[in-house]
Amino acid sequence: MEEPLTPADARRLIRVIVGCYRLEAMNASARMRSRRHQEDAKTMKCQQCGTAMKTRRENFSYTASGLHGVTLVGVEVSRCPGCGEFEVSIPRIEQLHRALARFVIQKDTPFTGAEVRFLRKFLGWSGADFAKHIGVTPESVSRWEQDREIMSPPADRALRLMVATREPVTEYPLGKLKDILRRKPKAVRVRVRVAAHDWKAEAAGGTK
Ligand SMILES: [Zn+2]
Repeated sequence: MEEPLTPADARRLIRVIVGCYRLEAMNASARMRSRRHQEDAKTMKCQQCGTAMKTRRENFSYTASGLHGVTLVGVEVSRCPGCGEFEVSIPRIEQLHRALARFVIQKDTPFTGAEVRFLRKFLGWSGADFAKHIGVTPESVSRWEQDREIMSPPADRALRLMVATREPVTEYPLGKLKDILRRKPKAVRVRVRVAAHDWKAEAAGGTK
């Protein structure tokens, strides 16, 4: 039911990942070589059947992200020749998810359900939290995530901006969003003063 990424999207994803992680991979491979030396000495055993596992670099389809068509280029995968069990070692997973999230919000078509779910989790919200922050019902969120409905344009834009500003802008309290509509409109009263390199704004009496 979920609409997979187009092959073009997937190719772009791969390019982004390769671009972001090439430098890192070079550092990582030096580290991993030395680590593998030690592992060779004690040989990694399969936890399921005890057979010695074989480790090498592979292009790994990262379905655990919940997104379709994400390939991690050249990550270390250990496979058991006995039972097929495998273990993948993914470095810097937080940065990986950030790179994916940034890539997803640049797409020029509406989000698929899987993408909404990925971005919502990236923001660290449950379905109910996400609904409150965007200003919709939890049922809407579940319809989006199940590909039964496309996000409305304002919701789509809000989500893109929330993801885009999550890291660099920490001062904007996203937590406030869910309370805004419960209040009456009230004109701001602000005192603005010129400072060394900037203007500083502060609430004047009368607003909280
Ligand atoms: Zn095994």
